[in-house]
Amino acid sequence: MIVLKSAREIALMRRAGHVLAGVMERLRTFVRAGMSTLEIDEDVEAFIHRAGAATAFKGYRGFPATACISINEEVVHGIPSPRRKIREGDIVGLDLGCIVEGYYADCAFTLPIGAVPARVQQLLDVTRESLDRAIQECRPGRRLSDVSHAVQSHVEAHGFSVVRAFVGHGIGRALHEEPQIPNFGDPGRGPQLRAGMVLAIEPMVTMGSWEVRILDDGWTAVTQDGSLAAHFEHTVAVTENGPEVLTSLAGAPATSTTGAGQGP
Ligand code: MG
Repeated sequence: MIVLKSAREIALMRRAGHVLAGVMERLRTFVRAGMSTLEIDEDVEAFIHRAGAATAFKGYRGFPATACISINEEVVHGIPSPRRKIREGDIVGLDLGCIVEGYYADCAFTLPIGAVPARVQQLLDVTRESLDRAIQECRPGRRLSDVSHAVQSHVEAHGFSVVRAFVGHGIGRALHEEPQIPNFGDPGRGPQLRAGMVLAIEPMVTMGSWEVRILDDGWTAVTQDGSLAAHFEHTVAVTENGPEVLTSLAGAPATSTTGAGQGP
């Protein structure tokens, strides 16, 4: 069952989303070559706590950290470590979640460290564009697979591949709710979208084939062929007026704030 959220619930998720938008903004300049992925994780955790929110991933099915940090051929669910150092030319996937008064937000982006080859930058651009296109499908009356198809059609038009093994999801009082949102499929299928649905849409895109495998740590998903992978994600509310990206500061209502007790 897809749980519809009230305006009050969406307001709480908007507050959680704005905390994450602040984290993303900070990480764009904070993350540098030479830093360990654990240093980044500790910074994210401190930021979330300073904002008055709770971390969402730590302890989730035993995941040991606040952020998932996945470098180069790692697709998702990389575990931060003091031994794993960021290097010039890496692409670093940063997947973030937090909770405000019991409501979750979830987002991700992939950051190039210094200069990367043009085709790698294109991988990042096309993945982000595919998310933007999917978000534009989040309107009452569209079908769920219209979202999926928007991702796949854009990605494959540029010669990249869509990961099949992981999907987007509904989100609310739990990190993962129904429906599952594949990043591939024909349009016009699945449930009709309705105002009050909140969806975490998260294309995972590779330069090579779409197959992935899980490393011995039980979490880190890597491309089977070792090709680079990108991941972008936003938490999006379906409203009567179209999509509202909750994990973005852009377009945030002027009254919105992450301050305690000051929800819009
Ligand atoms: Mg997610």
